[in-house]
Parts: sequence; C-alpha cells; structure tokens
Amino acid sequence: MFDFNEKTVLITGASYGLGEQFAYAFADAGADLVLTARSEDLLQNVADSCRTKGREVTAVTGDVSIEDDVRAVVTAGIDAHGKLDVLINNAGIADMRGLAPEHFDSETFNQIISVDLVGAFYYARECGRHMLENSSGSIVNIGSILGNGGSENGVIAYSAAKGGLRNMTLQLGSEWADRGVRVNSVSPGFIVTEMTRIALEAMGIDKWIASRTPMRRVGESHEVTNAVMFLASDLASYITGVDLLVDGGTNASNGTFQIPPIHHEWNVEAPMVSSPYEPVQPRPDWYQALEAGVPGVHYPLPE
Ligand code: NAD
Repeated sequence: MFDFNEKTVLITGASYGLGEQFAYAFADAGADLVLTARSEDLLQNVADSCRTKGREVTAVTGDVSIEDDVRAVVTAGIDAHGKLDVLINNAGIADMRGLAPEHFDSETFNQIISVDLVGAFYYARECGRHMLENSSGSIVNIGSILGNGGSENGVIAYSAAKGGLRNMTLQLGSEWADRGVRVNSVSPGFIVTEMTRIALEAMGIDKWIASRTPMRRVGESHEVTNAVMFLASDLASYITGVDLLVDGGTNASNGTFQIPPIHHEWNVEAPMVSSPYEPVQPRPDWYQALEAGVPGVHYPLPE
C-alpha cells in the first residue's frame, strides 16, 4: 500500500510493542530506519529482522526523556543516512495502578510527562530543525484516546501527557506548515501490547472494553500501523495538525462509553442500532468485587 523507498524513518520505542510493528511495516515498504529504545538486546533483534528485509538500519540506544540521548540518536541517524524524512514519536509509558488524582504521586506524574510529552517534544524539536532545513519532513506522534477526553480510569498523568501531546501536534502542525514539515498524531484505542496485556488479557478487561466500543472489539496493531503510515506518507501531503483516532468509534460515542445502552435491557427483541447486535458483556467477576475501590490503591489511601 505504501512506498517509503529512499526515505529514512526514525522510530522511538522500537524494541517491542507498536514501535516494533511500525519498524517491520516501514521496512516492508522500503524505508531505511533509525531505531531507538533503551534496551540494547531487544533493539538489536528488531534491527536485525529489518536488515533481513534488505534495509539499512541504524540502532542507537537512548532514553527519550534525556536530552543528550535524543541529540545523540538524531545526530547518529543523520550521519548514517544523510537525512531524516519521517519521525514516529512512539515511545511511551502508562501507569496501571488506577490511582485517583487526589492520591497520585508526584514522582510517577513527572516521569510519565517526561517520557510521553517532553520526550516527544525533544524528538520533534531536534528532528524538526533538521527537516525545516531540508524544507521536507513528516512527524507522527502516537497519542491515545485517553488524550481526547476524560474518563474514570485513574490515569491522570497519562491523560495529561497525551492531551498535551495532542495539542502540541496541532501547534507544531500550524507553526511548520508553510516550511514543508507536517505534524500529525494517531490516537489509538485499546490494543494488546506489553503495555496493556495484563489489564486486557490477564484481567479480562478486553471483553469489558470491547462491549463498550461501538465496533465491539479492541484494536489490532496493524490497524494503528496503517494510520501511522498514511499520515507519514506523501499521500497525506495536505494534512497537518490532525489527530486521527483509531478507536473503533469509541470517541464518537464519548460520554456513553462506560454506560450500557439502555435498549439492551428493554428492547432486546428489536435492537435499535444494528442486527445482529452483540450483547453488552457482563463485567468480569473481579470488577464487582473492586467496584468500591482497591484498598490501599484506590481511595481512601492509608494516612
Ligand atoms: P509498550 O509498553 O508495549 O512499548 C513501549 C515502547 O516504548 C517500548 O519499546 C519501550 O522500550 C519504549 N520506551 C518506554 N519508555 C521509554 C523511554 N524512556 N525511552 C525510550 N523508549 C522508551 O507500549 P505500546 O502499547 O507499544 O505503546 C506505544 C505507544 O502507543 C505509546 O506512546 C502508548 O502510550 C501508545 N498507545 C498504546 C495503546 C495500547 O492500547 N497499547 C493505546 C493508546 C496509545
């Protein structure tokens, strides 16, 4: 579908999860790659797999929240490939403890902002400066549905970081639009990766989420990849400052997301939305037990 021959694509957080899938997809589409993450071994494995597809790959370890690391990765990429055409700001962390905002600790809040928002800014600034010199480039930030509105999920830091990233996308898209550099973001719904596997698979939340998603399922990584590659490519040449939701309709149904549609209860014989219409999944058993809060994790916390 996409042609990235002659293009160099820098991907952060490329050692596993969505970033790894992006690396393989861009390699299959002909791109040379600059890959970065913190763990050398995992990163080299991904780089080697991309090389077997015939691509030039530079793999440099680094932490996106450390400015010197970011400069080193970008410099190494430009030195090795002569230019950077695309940046995928993918590296991110989340916090699954479900802490209420009034109890959320400063250390974790700052850490999540540093990686998910500030790290993405460091990369956008360093790559952006280079792209502006060439009057050409495309940046795709990986946001989240949780950056597109509020929820009751106990994710204050993640939601603040991804909301900030979304608006940074609009801001950079505006600031660089007349100098050849496009900046967009993709906001996925729930996808099974290492970040979400425990919650989605081990705890059974996937069925709960699916039943409250208009498409009645969680997403798959290739569905995010397709959106990322489209925005990164020249096919999106007149698109900048856009946040593209890849969420099975979740954001379109915002507000009813956590509420079972009432006609499931009283109009079972004549579904109003479509037919057949998957029933709302019951909450997992453990969910009812935890409804009042997780002692020591949800409120009230011990003094
Ligand atoms: P993941 O935990 O499976 O992978 C995260 C990647 O980021 C890994 O390669 C990790 O090494 C890297 N990383 C983390 N901290 C880093 C740091 N400080 N410096 C450098 N690299 C770092 O997560 P994922 O699900 O693949 O998430 C990828 C992106 O997609 C994230 O920005 C995440 O917030 C976003 N996202 C994921 C989902 C989902 O359901 N999986 C939904 C919405 C958004």
